[in-house]
Amino acid sequence: MVSVLLVLNAGSSSLKFQVFEAVDAGDPQRIFRGQFEGLSDAPHFSVRDGHDAVLVDRSWTEPFGHEQALRELTSWLREHRGEYRLAAIGHRVVHGGIRHHGPVLVDDGVLRELEALEPLAPLHQPHNLEPIRIVRSMMPDLPQVACFDTAFHRRQPEVAQLFALPQDMIRMGVRRYGFHGLSYEYIASVLSDYDAGLASGRVVVAHLGNGASLCALANGESVATTMGFSALEGLPMGTRCGSLDAGVVFFMLRELKLSPGEVEQILYKKSGLLGLSGLTNDMRKLRSAAPTNRDARLAIDVFVYRIVREIGSLIAALGGIDGIVFTAGIGEHDVATRSEVLRGLAWAGFQLDEAANAAGGPRVTRQGAANAWVIPTNEELSIARGMVSVLSETRRALAV
Ligand code: ADP
Repeated sequence: MVSVLLVLNAGSSSLKFQVFEAVDAGDPQRIFRGQFEGLSDAPHFSVRDGHDAVLVDRSWTEPFGHEQALRELTSWLREHRGEYRLAAIGHRVVHGGIRHHGPVLVDDGVLRELEALEPLAPLHQPHNLEPIRIVRSMMPDLPQVACFDTAFHRRQPEVAQLFALPQDMIRMGVRRYGFHGLSYEYIASVLSDYDAGLASGRVVVAHLGNGASLCALANGESVATTMGFSALEGLPMGTRCGSLDAGVVFFMLRELKLSPGEVEQILYKKSGLLGLSGLTNDMRKLRSAAPTNRDARLAIDVFVYRIVREIGSLIAALGGIDGIVFTAGIGEHDVATRSEVLRGLAWAGFQLDEAANAAGGPRVTRQGAANAWVIPTNEELSIARGMVSVLSETRRALAV
């Protein structure tokens, strides 16, 4: 029997997963990846193996929830991959509060603590926790590990984590948490594969996907990031507004008489690239529309302008810069966004190498004091690594 680790990333109507083989030395090796999509409408289940060959492609016409999705997945594993023994499940959990600096083994106390954080991330946390509760009732003895998007930022200096609010607000947990930590942790772990100096240097990582943020790394540790209390702050994103004068929210509530829920919908779902372009949140579609559509061009220009300005702010937080890393959907694939951002950063010593950029890097600048890189992220591997470390710590603790 081969011991495998299941990594889950649950959204409101999706359940993404990867299955890793736990090996004795080195990183866990991915064997399958797949997802359930459209759970609230017409579920679709797909699985691919390590060579990207399709193993499952199945659809239903009636909606179902995470529980049936998990039953389908575990019974598929049992029936078709009998040689694998599920050793543990790891979950991507958006919020770990101020206490968790790393992954944790879930028990009753931890689950209660994570449920108490739901008001801080109401759009994500409840969906992330649901599969944990389901697995606890389906397979009560199976170890479950929670890995947080916030944990990597917890060692930031206090000044980087605080809003200038009254202390009683701060005591209630109103502070800058930061997100995308699993992605940043992975990138920090592979910097030395690209350039020995980067791992111990001053680096800004640009995680540019549908959700987008920047993280300043010094010596591989997060010292500042653009997202704050919620995943709204910082850069404009696919459908989120990014940093906004809080006065706009009062205007929407008082003058436009919108409800808090309506304001939330606008800021999370109708703003960003979608709001500005009036067209789409998809960068590929914006790029093809931009030559003839003024608003599509404007949406991209605002996105790039904000990235350049925020990188400038993180360079100040780092006291200089040795490298920039582009990652996630736009960062890894959109040649034009990388070149526009790097042109805006010529003042910081970045010299775009157009041919290398068009080829996808990994280095996309001419060799200089400061270089830019394209590095594909791997949040699921971060989770699998977190699981291995929590499980081996637990085993060690039980042995003494
Ligand atoms: P999520 O935050 O949902 O995980 P992704 O990291 O998958 O998002 O990024 C999605 C974004 O990446 C979309 O705006 C998409 O248009 C963009 N993207 C993906 N592939 C390309 C590509 N080849 N060229 C330009 N943009 C791309």
